[in-house]
Amino acid sequence: MTTNRTFTMIKPDAVADGNIGAIIAMIEEAGFRVVAMKKVLLTPSLAGKFYEVHAERPFYNDLCAYMSSGPIVPMILEKDNAVADFRALIGATDPSKAEEGTIRKRFAKSMTANAIHGSDSDENAAIEGSFFFASTEQY
Ligand code: UDP
Ligand code: MG
Repeated sequence: MTTNRTFTMIKPDAVADGNIGAIIAMIEEAGFRVVAMKKVLLTPSLAGKFYEVHAERPFYNDLCAYMSSGPIVPMILEKDNAVADFRALIGATDPSKAEEGTIRKRFAKSMTANAIHGSDSDENAAIEGSFFFASTEQY
């Protein structure tokens, strides 16, 4: 089912650098509506739960430590074709490969500290959104 929603998190490096506002401006200018938003500090255990699909990957421990190293800003976003359009807006995982004009090109520092998350499917967008937010239909 396509819901026209995706899920994102502004990651600790971008929050610490004072880039929340600039990143949300890029998101809104690209036509996304902010459905839900908050600022939270994950424990390492909660970060591990969020990224459980990557548990066997070599970068998993570093990723969980990084994602619990400072507050993040999770958001649910809405737009036609939200998942694919948002992946295009954030750019490649590796910032050295991120395209001009993307959020990661502008703000990411490294492969791990890459400024922002974007869901990779409608199904994962729903799972990831419900990790942070209760019912949002009315938003
Ligand atoms: N990551 C990393 N090293 C890698 C690949 C990924 O530290 O070699 C981190 C990075 O922060 C990335 C996250 O793990 O955003 C999730 O990886 P994924 O492959 O899902 O990339 P994404 O979907 O975020 O582009
Ligand atoms: Mg991913």
